[in-house]
Amino acid sequence: MSFTLYLDRQQWFKHLAETDRLFSGCLPVIKGNGYGFGNSFLADAMTKLGKRSVAVGTLEEARQISSTHSFEQILILTPVWSDLRPADLAFTFTVVSFQHLEQLVARVRNAGAFPPVKVVLKCSSGMKRFGVDAGELKAAAELLRADPTVLLEGYSLHFPVETMTEDEKLRQIQTWIQLISSSGLACDKMYLSHISPALLRRLTEQYPAVSCVVRLGTSLWLAEKAYHFRSTVLAVRQIAAGERYGYKQKKAWRQGYLVSVSGGTANGVGLEAPLHTSGLKGPLKLTLFWFLNLFNFHLSPFVYAGKRLWFAEPPHMQASVLKLRRNPPKPGDEVALKNVRMTIAAFDEIVQFNERAAERDRT
Ligand SMILES: *Cc1c(COP(=O)(O)O)cnc(C)c1O
Repeated sequence: MSFTLYLDRQQWFKHLAETDRLFSGCLPVIKGNGYGFGNSFLADAMTKLGKRSVAVGTLEEARQISSTHSFEQILILTPVWSDLRPADLAFTFTVVSFQHLEQLVARVRNAGAFPPVKVVLKCSSGMKRFGVDAGELKAAAELLRADPTVLLEGYSLHFPVETMTEDEKLRQIQTWIQLISSSGLACDKMYLSHISPALLRRLTEQYPAVSCVVRLGTSLWLAEKAYHFRSTVLAVRQIAAGERYGYKQKKAWRQGYLVSVSGGTANGVGLEAPLHTSGLKGPLKLTLFWFLNLFNFHLSPFVYAGKRLWFAEPPHMQASVLKLRRNPPKPGDEVALKNVRMTIAAFDEIVQFNERAAERDRT
């Protein structure tokens, strides 16, 4: 039973290598559901590509990846507020406030570990999520200069994906570089996200002494041309008008077929992240779908004979039941999928093609 991602390995690896080059050696972000591929799959790919450093979301992800892969640096992006084990001191921690820095130092001492803890200091940005402000930076600088338990590896800035112009981002980076220098700390490394290769070049020219590293997730992994999705047809049943079916024992409106396919809620089918719309077209479309939803019409991501099919009822755990008027597929056939959201998808299988070509390309 398969909800399958088909991956053109040659194209995907070509994209990974090109993107890495475009950003003069990016820091790959491996986290969450592994952007649909799974974290371990992404870690394998980065090992193949010869990357020595990766970023992860959480402490648990860092522990997981370090148990199976041997990267020199694993940077944890979200603040860790939990107890540490001595082995955790191999990781680099993102520090988001002065209070956070203090508790991290305390926990390192509690862990009875000896090597200093490596930290990246997050500076606040337009995101208004995590980060020290200018005032806290002073206090942090004092602690960092005085305490041998902490080793400062660099600074971090995370920009919004939209609305900020390149010039605004540049100004914010410049402001931080000045703030850091005037607080008496050295600024030789800066981790950045959501900046363009052009802005990276401008920064490198203006600040040759600051090594700027861009963290990449979405634009690194999601090379849409390199993959597509398919799902196995599990069963096909004819149904008469008025006949009851499914978990909800709904009545069929008219005669047709019930087509069961692989892929349900456990695979991310039928789940939606809240959408943010702007303009008029988006909301109008949403309103139309909301209206249809009132009558239990839910459009599925499954495509057959060029058309998106409707769900016959809410998706099950690992399968979905679809409605079809005529000419149904056969059990064992595959149907395509459209609009699969990779950040919530979980595939039963990743089938790779052009594998040999990918190997040839790298040698
Ligand atoms: C997740 C994350 C990234 C990667 O984001 P994408 O939009 O997927 O490229 C970069 N930086 C930080 C701090 C993150 O948490």
